[in-house]
Amino acid sequence: MKTFTDPAALHAWCAEQKRAGRRIGLVPTMGFLHEGHLSLIREARRHADDVVVSIFVNPTQFAPNEDYAAYPRDEAHDLALCEAEGAAAVFLPKPADLYAPDASTWVEETVLEKGYCGAQRPIHFRGVCTVVAKLFNIVGPDVAVFGQKDFQQAAVIRRMVRDLNFPIEIIRAPIVRDEDGLAKSSRNTYLTPESRAQALSLSRSLRAAKAAVEAGERDAAKLEALIRAETEANGWIPDYVTVADADSLEPRTTVTPGHNVILIACRQGRLRLIDNVLL
Ligand code: AMP
Repeated sequence: MKTFTDPAALHAWCAEQKRAGRRIGLVPTMGFLHEGHLSLIREARRHADDVVVSIFVNPTQFAPNEDYAAYPRDEAHDLALCEAEGAAAVFLPKPADLYAPDASTWVEETVLEKGYCGAQRPIHFRGVCTVVAKLFNIVGPDVAVFGQKDFQQAAVIRRMVRDLNFPIEIIRAPIVRDEDGLAKSSRNTYLTPESRAQALSLSRSLRAAKAAVEAGERDAAKLEALIRAETEANGWIPDYVTVADADSLEPRTTVTPGHNVILIACRQGRLRLIDNVLL
C-alpha cells in the first residue's frame, strides 16, 4: 500500500494506474476509521481495481465554534485498517498541502445544502464540496463511495457531480450500525456511557417510524411526532426531524414509500448526532 501527502505525487501515481487501464475508486474520509468506513472501501473495491482512501480532517468544513481541533485522529491505526482492507493507496495531506494560504476559490452547491445540517452549519457543505472537488481533480477516480449515514452530504455531492460534469460514478453505501443500532461515527467517541445509551433512541425511533410506514401510516407529521417524543424523552433534543423526498430533500407531508427518507439530527449539550432511514 502506498501513502502520499503530496497531491502532485498522488496525481502522477493515479495517472499512471489509469494509463495501465486500471479503474480507480476513491473513498474520502476524515479518518479515525471504523467499520462504516471499511464498508465503503469494500464497496469501492467491488467497482475498481485500485482504491484510494483519503484521510483528511478538512478545516474548511468546520466553523470556528466546532470540533476541528478535538476531532479524533489515529493515523497509525487508520493505515493498518486500510492495508488490511486492501486499499492501494492512502492520501494523508496536511492542510497546507491542499490549501494555499491565500486560497480564494470555493465550490458551492446552493439548494440541497440549505436545510437540515446546512441550516445549523452554514459553511459546512461549501467546505465539503470544495475539498471533494479537489480530491476528484487530484485522484481522477472512476467511482467514489460515500455513506448513507451523511445523507444530505451524499445528495449534495451527487448534485455537484452532475452540475459540474465530473465523469465520476457516485455510490451511496448503506449505514453501518453497532449491534444495538447506533450508527457508527468517529464522533461517537465523544459520548459518555449514559449519553450513548440515551442515543439509542435515535435509531430506535427511526425503526419504529419505518415499521409504522410498513403497517400503513402515511402521515409524515405523526412519524415526526413519534421520533421527537422518543428522542426528547431520552434527553436528545431534535434540531430537525423531517420526512423528505430522497432526491430533492424537499419535506413531504405524506409518505410515498420507495421515494422518501426520514432525516434527523439531535443535540445533547455540545454533542450532536445525525441518523436517517429510507422508507
Ligand atoms: P467521515 O470520516 O465521518 O467524514 O466519513 C467518511 C465517509 O464515511 C462518508 O461518506 C460517511 O458518510 C461515511 N460513513 C461514516 N459513518 C458511516 C456509517 N456508519 N456507515 C456507512 N458510512 C459511513
